[in-house]
Amino acid sequence: MNWFDINKIDYKTYVISENKHYEKTNIYFLIGKNFNVCIDSGMGLHKIGHVLDKIDNKERRVITTHSHWDHIGNHDEFDEVYFHKNAKDLLKTGELTTLEVIRQEIVKDIDKKYIPKEFEIDTYKPYDGRNGLVVEDGDIIDQGDRQLEIIHTPGHTIDSISIFEKETGYLFVGDFLYSGPLYCRSDNNDPNAYYTSLEKLLRKNYEITKILSAHYDPDLGKDYIAKTFELLKKAKEDRKLEKGSGNYKYKDMEIIL
Ligand SMILES: [Zn+2]
Repeated sequence: MNWFDINKIDYKTYVISENKHYEKTNIYFLIGKNFNVCIDSGMGLHKIGHVLDKIDNKERRVITTHSHWDHIGNHDEFDEVYFHKNAKDLLKTGELTTLEVIRQEIVKDIDKKYIPKEFEIDTYKPYDGRNGLVVEDGDIIDQGDRQLEIIHTPGHTIDSISIFEKETGYLFVGDFLYSGPLYCRSDNNDPNAYYTSLEKLLRKNYEITKILSAHYDPDLGKDYIAKTFELLKKAKEDRKLEKGSGNYKYKDMEIIL
């Protein structure tokens, strides 16, 4: 009975998915020469450390794409934790999602056989930023043979970062982008920040081979940024790019405002 679905993207990059939860969260595991890197750590219902060790047991570090609970659940199993400077207060106060809601969400609609005996819902607490290291736009995390560039891409939350690896052309976007309609209605979402972040990514002219998301189908296809930007640009021209204006569609893309 495996909670995590493990798939290879290439010989040193894995996607580990929590498909038995409705959020279908993806964690990425990047094997490096000097240490390994996880991009997010999952929701924390199931521990991930021993799963990673089976693949490769070097020192492990985690980069936080943003501080929503379903991406930081196993941060305590890492030697080093990185997050954007805007995450520091969010993690400390837990203001993105209340503890009560997190405790409901983590086991929501899950087949009981997947809830570990040792998991205690009443004492579960998400990672609060302890011993974390702050990263900023432009920083590089260097695994020795793999260089991971941090790009601040607010929109989903103010602390959202994307991570670009030039060598492979992979862009890890966290919840900044995911398949299906782009939800932009909650307190933490900011449609104008989305617009600016997408424009910023396009201007960088990266040679992207894969855009890898933190939910649902991992690979969005390399044109997803351009397609999403086109959608937002059209919405902006129509003066609809603001919260409360409803669903906006253009071609096969949709944003919920
Ligand atoms: Zn999120």
